[in-house]
Amino acid sequence: MRYISTRGHTDPKTFGQILLEGLAPDGGLYMPEAYPRVDAATLERWRGLSYPDLACEILSLYVDDIPPADLRAICARTYTAEVFGSDAIVPVRSLSPGFHIAGLSNGPTLAFKDMAMQLLGNLLEYELARRGEELNILGATSGDTGSAAEYAMRGKKGIRVFMMSPHGRMSPFQQAQMFSLTDDNIHNIAVEGVFDDCQDIVKAISGDADFKRRHRIGAVNSINWARLVAQVVYYFWAYFRVAPDNAAEVDFTVPSGNFGNACAGHVARMMGLPISRLVVATNENDVLDEFFRTGLYRIRGRDGTFETSSPSMDISKASNLERFLFDLLGRDAGRTRLLMADRLRQEGSFDLGDDPVFAEAAERYGFRSGRSTHVDRLAVIRECWHQHGTLIDPHTADAVRVARAHAVAHVPMIVLETALPVKFASTIREAVGQEPPRPARFEGLEHLPRRLKVLPADAAAVRAFVAGTLQAGPG
Ligand SMILES: *Cc1c(COP(=O)(O)O)cnc(C)c1O
Repeated sequence: MRYISTRGHTDPKTFGQILLEGLAPDGGLYMPEAYPRVDAATLERWRGLSYPDLACEILSLYVDDIPPADLRAICARTYTAEVFGSDAIVPVRSLSPGFHIAGLSNGPTLAFKDMAMQLLGNLLEYELARRGEELNILGATSGDTGSAAEYAMRGKKGIRVFMMSPHGRMSPFQQAQMFSLTDDNIHNIAVEGVFDDCQDIVKAISGDADFKRRHRIGAVNSINWARLVAQVVYYFWAYFRVAPDNAAEVDFTVPSGNFGNACAGHVARMMGLPISRLVVATNENDVLDEFFRTGLYRIRGRDGTFETSSPSMDISKASNLERFLFDLLGRDAGRTRLLMADRLRQEGSFDLGDDPVFAEAAERYGFRSGRSTHVDRLAVIRECWHQHGTLIDPHTADAVRVARAHAVAHVPMIVLETALPVKFASTIREAVGQEPPRPARFEGLEHLPRRLKVLPADAAAVRAFVAGTLQAGPG
């Protein structure tokens, strides 16, 4: 398998080559040259596999520069009951007949980012050791991504993490989760500013090619292909738990922000998994809902991006949408570049509403969408608790609401649960008037010793801290 750029100007690369890269050099996103197709006999064989074995089978279709035995070992040590809470790894439960919830949030940080990030940590450690290289990950987080990256990279040889977050702005649980990591290779930087300031600093430092090269600075953001392919696995897994046989079709609803999760569903569908509809659920930040309803893709400014009670979906643009767009445009890299680079830069939007190709998003690729608001998510959380005895988090609630609007009789609906309620306790209290339960391993988290560096919202200060830490030696 080789990987090409959605903008068409890079030589085909291998999985190992793109593992440590973000954007392709031409500004595009990496895509497999073609989707491997899975036949009926393969589906039948996969149905009985354990989660790590299924992950290995799917990954091996995309990876040909890691020996199979090594890949198997990496999957086996990633997807364990110890890390993900049960042998199922992704338990699937029913809310009501035909309506299911796939639990993607039982990893170390209780959000679905762990599903991919834990694998990426092990893949990176393997690849860096093989190359005799080191990597310093610089990132910005408003919560889930940063902690998932830190928990995936803690203690990994050859890797250090410098993670910026807006000082005092994450939920108390999220702060405790990140700052209580005291591993030598994890560096929390609390920036005196907002999330956008953190992102600007990452951009400023990443734009300094010399500093970046000298200090081996890299990223693990949501456009990383390895993260995306790791997410393909649970679509197959959940399908096998719910579909009575391998001909039956199911629908998925996905709480969406950067479109990484939903895009993995698209990839699973392109591989031949019988998914009928892929429903994209957003909150008030409805960039994706607007696109899938009307064909208009319009990125939002800071003023047009709202702080909501499902904060991990508070995005101004959907970084991974370019991957789907590339397929939608018949893999026309020139046209993808025209829309995503030129048109977005000049006008901040493009509109495919009148283009015949847009109808295919719904018809050929099965996409549907919907949005939800704070009031909706409170009502859904309350109702799930009182009617079904299950507590769901605000992001999952957005999806449950949208899923109901799109559910079709006799087609099982699977909602992806992307976080556990304990991460967003204040919204849960507002909805049901009580504290969300906390898994035993998180008791007393807020009282653990913390390690963090508070810095002003200034790229020079962060740069100096990174350089100084690296100079101080190992760790
Ligand atoms: C990141 C995240 C999302 C959005 O996922 P995308 O892949 O960015 O669409 C949804 N819910 C939670 C809890 C998340 O952490």
